[in-house]
Amino acid sequence: MDPFIPKRAYFERDALDYPLGRQIYFKMQELGVDIYFVGSHNRVTGIPGKNPQEAYFEAKRTLVVGIRRSPEFQSCRPSAHYQLPLVTSCIGECEYCYLNTTLGKKPYIRVYVNIDEILDRAEKYIEKRLPETTIFEGSATSDPLPVEPYTGALKKTIEFFAKQEKGLFRFVTKFTNVDSLLDAQHCGRTTFRFSINSASVIKNFEHKTPPLEERIEAASKVAEAGYPLGFIIGPIFHYPGWEQEYGELLENLKKELASRVKHPPEFELITHRFTARAKKNILDVFPRTKVPLDKRERVFKFGQFGYGKYLYPPEKMKDLKEFFEEKIREYFPDAKVLYFV
Ligand code: SF4
Repeated sequence: MDPFIPKRAYFERDALDYPLGRQIYFKMQELGVDIYFVGSHNRVTGIPGKNPQEAYFEAKRTLVVGIRRSPEFQSCRPSAHYQLPLVTSCIGECEYCYLNTTLGKKPYIRVYVNIDEILDRAEKYIEKRLPETTIFEGSATSDPLPVEPYTGALKKTIEFFAKQEKGLFRFVTKFTNVDSLLDAQHCGRTTFRFSINSASVIKNFEHKTPPLEERIEAASKVAEAGYPLGFIIGPIFHYPGWEQEYGELLENLKKELASRVKHPPEFELITHRFTARAKKNILDVFPRTKVPLDKRERVFKFGQFGYGKYLYPPEKMKDLKEFFEEKIREYFPDAKVLYFV
């Protein structure tokens, strides 16, 4: 996949007081990207979009460079204790993406120039929970890899956590530009995860993301560099032929990784679910989507924040859970399944 070059970039003026802000600014100039200024990275006006589709696709080509001011980190169950806010949104255009619910009509890509301050805050969170170990998730609201060539934020974060005795870092990606992270001093304290799915899910619902084989190749390189490795399989769909396709996915993974991975990977398994709001947003942007969004085929579960989710009914959940646990035991007998939701 070609590296991400935005169509336009917006800067908070104060972001240029930071070396990273200036570095990104000069890079955008060099690349001939249209540059604008905004008061706040939270309120960006001027991204074109006469209808929801155009607004979405234009936003996915827009980089916004700002300062992360909020002192609080959000909690992040079940994968970690806290979100580590390095990037918001992502250049991918996956129809099912959970960011469709959370980021509104214009999910522009935000990067933050005050990474040192963000990491200082992480250190305070670690201190607060001592003697427990605190785990931070770097991709709760983004896929951070496509903008890594501009920010270097992941590398800096990985090297920060290498020095934290009581802090661990994890992030997940579908992208494959991993080379700049292979020589990072990680001390095994960052878990590098890849998001993968079955052939038809990738073909039908994921756009502007690298093919599966390239993700597995990138995963092998990461494992060879000594990182703890993980895979998120999700969203898992229950559709005609799912057993065969997910079986092939795990079999291929085993074949490609076997000779190159010394330690068994971790797995996180996430079944497909949607909210009423996500359904509306998905249909606005992808009116012909084949993502299954029929509420009659799901069960409704009240969520923590007052809005409910539509999940697969218990019998389908049971099928999926048993299948994945069995296949993972077969192909990766020493691997840990961290959770199935
Ligand atoms: Fe969303 Fe991940 Fe796809 Fe990006 S790659 S659009 S974060 S699902």
